[in-house]
Amino acid sequence: MSLLFKGFSLPTVKLPECTKKLRDEVRNFIDEELQAGTFTPHCDSWLAGFSPEFSRKLGEKGWIGVTWPRKYGGQERSALDRFVITEELLAAGAPVAAHWIADRQSGPLLLRYGTEEQRTFFLPKIARGECYFSIGLSEPNSGSDLASISTSARREGDGWVINGSKIWTSGAHKTQYMIALCRTSRDPDNRHAGMSQFIIDLSLPGVIVRPIILMTGEHHFNEVIFEDVKVSDDMVVGEIGNGWKQSMTELAYERSGPERFLSTFPLLVELVRILRKNGQNDKHSRIEIGRLVAHLWTLRRMSLGVAKLLEEGITPNIPASLVKDLGTQFERELTEKVRLLVSLSPSMTSIKHFEVLLAQAILHSPGFTLRGGTTEILRGIIARGLGVR
Ligand SMILES: Cc1cc2nc3c(=O)[nH]c(=O)nc-3n(C[C@H](O)[C@H](O)[C@H](O)COP(=O)(O)OP(=O)(O)OC[C@H]3O[C@@H](n4cnc5c(N)ncnc54)[C@H](O)[C@@H]3O)c2cc1C
Repeated sequence: MSLLFKGFSLPTVKLPECTKKLRDEVRNFIDEELQAGTFTPHCDSWLAGFSPEFSRKLGEKGWIGVTWPRKYGGQERSALDRFVITEELLAAGAPVAAHWIADRQSGPLLLRYGTEEQRTFFLPKIARGECYFSIGLSEPNSGSDLASISTSARREGDGWVINGSKIWTSGAHKTQYMIALCRTSRDPDNRHAGMSQFIIDLSLPGVIVRPIILMTGEHHFNEVIFEDVKVSDDMVVGEIGNGWKQSMTELAYERSGPERFLSTFPLLVELVRILRKNGQNDKHSRIEIGRLVAHLWTLRRMSLGVAKLLEEGITPNIPASLVKDLGTQFERELTEKVRLLVSLSPSMTSIKHFEVLLAQAILHSPGFTLRGGTTEILRGIIARGLGVR
């Protein structure tokens, strides 16, 4: 039994008073922004709401890179403080996509594996909300099986020449940089060896960013092609050949945060508001909303537990996978429940905010369980953690 639950032990977290105070500050800021009309709540706003102006405002508040050392532009606050900031922004559907990846994973990756020069150059800019990153993992023929990537980095002179392509790269048409996983050598006996990470300036000659348009008509992700792109040696992240291990560290940051269960939260808020307005107070509606909120609360506690482990320097890949698997299912379930509870016509162009939110949630739903690792892959990781695989 103890073995069975080894992979899932998560600490219970009680938020300290200073974190609760921070939450109030973030809420007040969001209220002011909403009143000033600077944004309209959006489902999936961490992918769809790209606003450099909003990111800069958060940077001025000190709410990006909040856990990082002060010398790199951070605030040396706790992972729980970061959790609360991100939770409030997502719950409000605020436009946080511009800095999201840099704050969540590229910055922490550089903090852990980057050189002093990289940290000094990139981290303060990220923390000011001015410097944005995208993730260069997936390729046209490599998604779940990431070890099969073929984008290559070849040593030439005192730098590297990159060739190949990355796909589904969220935000690459707007971010300045990508951290790309590339092959630097091959070992027939070890497919995880010989991979390395590079910071690629997306304005370099030879970088071609081709849009992939979503079925909503929106443009969030891209295919990025590298044709003899020359990258200097100081853009190598960590050690040559250690890219697999480094990327796996990134995935723990990527999988467990509140963005894995709050993408459709603005819809829940609007649902409750509409039901109240319509006087729809029947038992069935109350039970459904009660269930959703109970699920949400459980996920939140689990995600907080992962944040605490990350703060303690532990890389909790298994519980992070569990949060993502359950969280993304919840995001989809919420969308379905709303559709069944209220009779309306989802439409991206409706003048009714609720109908637009529902359309966003429905049309973005297929991606929830794919991005950051598919359900099947996550369940494989969880099964291994349970010792049943
Ligand atoms: C909205 C969105 C944003 C994204 N943003 C980025 C980004 O910024 N950067 C980036 O690098 N990638 C990004 N991705 C790509 C994402 O990481 C991949 O789509 C995902 O890893 C799956 O890879 P694939 O699409 O190649 O599917 P495949 O790996 O081809 O999988 C197809 C199906 O087969 C199943 N499958 C595959 N292998 C196994 C197995 N061993 N056992 C059981 N089932 C299996 C999968 O679960 C899936 O259902 C994004 C994807 C989406 C939807």
